Amino acid sequence: MKAVLYKGPNQLALADLPKPVPGAGEVLLKVHDCGICGSDLHAVQFGLGLKPDCVLGHEFCGEISEIGPEVSGYAAGERVAAVPFSSCGVCDHCRRGQGYHCEKLKSIGLGPLPGAYAEYVACPAASLLKLPARLNSRQGALVEPLSVGLHGVNRSRIKPGTPSIVMGAGPVGLATMLWCKAKGADPVVVSEIAPGRRELALRLGASAVVNPREYNPGAKVRELCGRLPEVVFECIGVKSTLNEAVSLVDKCGQVVVIGVCMEPDQIMPLHFIFKEVSINFALAYTRSDFEETIQALATGRINADPLITDVIGLEQVPAAFEALRKPTSQAKVLIEFPR
Ligand SMILES: [Zn+2]
Ligand SMILES: [Zn+2]
Repeated sequence: MKAVLYKGPNQLALADLPKPVPGAGEVLLKVHDCGICGSDLHAVQFGLGLKPDCVLGHEFCGEISEIGPEVSGYAAGERVAAVPFSSCGVCDHCRRGQGYHCEKLKSIGLGPLPGAYAEYVACPAASLLKLPARLNSRQGALVEPLSVGLHGVNRSRIKPGTPSIVMGAGPVGLATMLWCKAKGADPVVVSEIAPGRRELALRLGASAVVNPREYNPGAKVRELCGRLPEVVFECIGVKSTLNEAVSLVDKCGQVVVIGVCMEPDQIMPLHFIFKEVSINFALAYTRSDFEETIQALATGRINADPLITDVIGLEQVPAAFEALRKPTSQAKVLIEFPR
């Protein structure tokens, strides 16, 4: 099968690999669509513990092609998305639905297990969720990134009428904004410096967008509803955004950090104390986040189609990574496989 391999920092290469054989409890998926994630870009740029010749790709859906031993409830041809990791299923974290905290966690496509930058990917049957016929496969590949936003919003105190700010309109920020709106937050102001991404946020339903270098997003929220934001979502993941988040949020408000900052950052605790700000961090997603996302896409509760700005073939992946390293107005780039 054709696959894209990670060779070393900033090096990807097309290769031909043997088709994986599903082991006990596994199925083999023929990949339909797979998203390129910011984490993939980070991983390829900095290595981040990736072994040479590993296969990235954790935002995927496909159809069942082969079924390994000890799997029941699935049939060849069914379309599924997968929570992209395997976990033990029996520890306290797994029982609470937080498989991503399992000590035996093995991620698919961002670490030990090969991902879906390939024609086929093997997954534990326990990780699969069936896709209703109303979802096309491009939407199926959005389930994972949308679940990241949902998980962050589910860790917040958003309820109908909560004024909020989403900092950053990359795929994670846009997904977070979609869920804030779906759960009735109002207004939802998106703060983003790139004009193309601001426009996309508006198209996806943000109440308003601002360039934070020109206008204070907190002032925009106050203009719209007479209050300051009660919840601020940090979806950028670079230095100094935590300080900015606390400067924007109302007293006794909440900052939810979803963006992944990979370097030390300095905060001024006094500013958090003066406002009695709560700060929460969000990682990954639960299986129920995936279920809620699939349901919301199937019923039209959220429409995320505009998130997909580019669809490319597998052979275009190395060039796409080069292009995505520079500032871009692209949101979600999907790799699509012929079928
Ligand atoms: Zn991702
Ligand atoms: Zn476990």
